[in-house]
Amino acid sequence: MHIVIAQMSHETNTFSPVITDLARFSGGRDLPVSGQEAIEMYTDTASSMGGFIQAASEFDVTISVPIVAGAAPSGPVEDETYEYIVSKIIEAAVACDAIMLDLHGAMVTKSFEDGEGELLRRIRAVAPDIPIAVALDMHANIYPAIVESATVVAGYHTYPHVDMDSTGLRAGRALLNSMVGTTTPTMVWGNAPMLPHVMRQGTDDYPNKALQERVAEMEASDAVVVSLFTGFPHADIYNAGLSVIVVTDNDPELAKRLGDELLDQAWNDRQVFVYEREPLEQSVSRAKAIGEERITTNYSTDTKGNDDVDQGPILLLDHYDNTASGGTMDTTEVLAEILRQDLQDVAVFGFYDPEVVLQMQSAGIGSSVTVSLGAKLPMPALEEQSKPLTLTGRVKLMSDGRFPATVAMSRGLEMNMGLCGILSVGTVDIVVISRHIEPFDPGCFRALGIEPTQRKYLMLKSRIHYRVGFMPLVKEVVECAGVGVCTSDYSQLKFENVRRPIFPLDGVNSRNG
Ligand SMILES: [Zn+2]
Repeated sequence: MHIVIAQMSHETNTFSPVITDLARFSGGRDLPVSGQEAIEMYTDTASSMGGFIQAASEFDVTISVPIVAGAAPSGPVEDETYEYIVSKIIEAAVACDAIMLDLHGAMVTKSFEDGEGELLRRIRAVAPDIPIAVALDMHANIYPAIVESATVVAGYHTYPHVDMDSTGLRAGRALLNSMVGTTTPTMVWGNAPMLPHVMRQGTDDYPNKALQERVAEMEASDAVVVSLFTGFPHADIYNAGLSVIVVTDNDPELAKRLGDELLDQAWNDRQVFVYEREPLEQSVSRAKAIGEERITTNYSTDTKGNDDVDQGPILLLDHYDNTASGGTMDTTEVLAEILRQDLQDVAVFGFYDPEVVLQMQSAGIGSSVTVSLGAKLPMPALEEQSKPLTLTGRVKLMSDGRFPATVAMSRGLEMNMGLCGILSVGTVDIVVISRHIEPFDPGCFRALGIEPTQRKYLMLKSRIHYRVGFMPLVKEVVECAGVGVCTSDYSQLKFENVRRPIFPLDGVNSRNG
């Protein structure tokens, strides 16, 4: 039996101006990786691909990988890029016994608002009966075509996503079990008219913690696979929002009952999924006060000579410009406020500004350089634009920007920040990069000689994923509302295509609208 395993993964922020072309899916290569090289690269990694490969190894099957195409979140995928990726998968789909697909679930292309559903529809057109397993991100915005075309669908149970490998494993095993006749999967899906805020979706916190615990209970007892998708709200598409998919062993009534229970539970907690904002000036001054209080307390009480560093840094979260939700990673307002309020000993990750990186490189290590940092990419979807920051600093270090991920998300895979460097402005070290990467692994600092635990403050362009690698290191987290396409101020965003009414954009009386 021959199984095709492939990835087409992109979370599309329809408000993001960042262009999503083939280069973005190619991980710094000419084209996305494939074949034996891809199998070796993804075996035993913390990824859905890794989980699929493991599932296949437990059965008597051979595998091939036509393409592994994953890109950091950004704007709608270019049509030719989408067609290239899809063609590689379709080509393989006509000559195999089953397919395992590592998809995202929130991919929007220039032509299709349900990129995954369109791929699955096209596979069904050439291979009507082939079993298909799909692994999806928790931020998937589910469309009927996904459920109608796939045999089994499994989504992550964690955010940050530290169970990508076990998601691939759950989907892969469920598919292979159905093929050897152990189970007969049947799927039911449903959604609720709500857009949970990304900052309130973490599975360390109520209400998603409780929801995912119930999901795990269902999966451990009667159901084959259960997934609750919190959805991705920064996508102005019809089916954005929270949904569930339940797979049972030939029991659609049970699937419907379990799905409804989860949707009711999520709907009842809809108000807890709403995020309350704090003005930027206030957040930064609160962070500063925590740092200053710590110096006073510790220097006066610690007789062993330990300073406040032992308590871990204070993390300022520039979450409106979150890389992992399609941020341009170059808005300057939080950094500007940090400098204005004169916070000392800060490490910042990161600014996507290839022009400044090249300027730093030509100036040379140790040189003083004046740059216009950030705000390079206009954000037409937003009323409020970022402004470039003129800074004079010292080029402290340059690097090729590659390091191995060592945390529970992407462990075993190489991270690539592109050509990058550190610009030191007084005691503020700013990492400037040429490829967007989400700072979930402290390796993004350590690869450049910055030990994050030794700094008083960190600033990260992240929302929830920083928790994977940074939560154990930091003492306090201060959420800072800057400027960016991941804004929590929904009045800045024009929602024209999402189904209405939907909470919290509208008052909605019941889960059924
Ligand atoms: Zn996600």
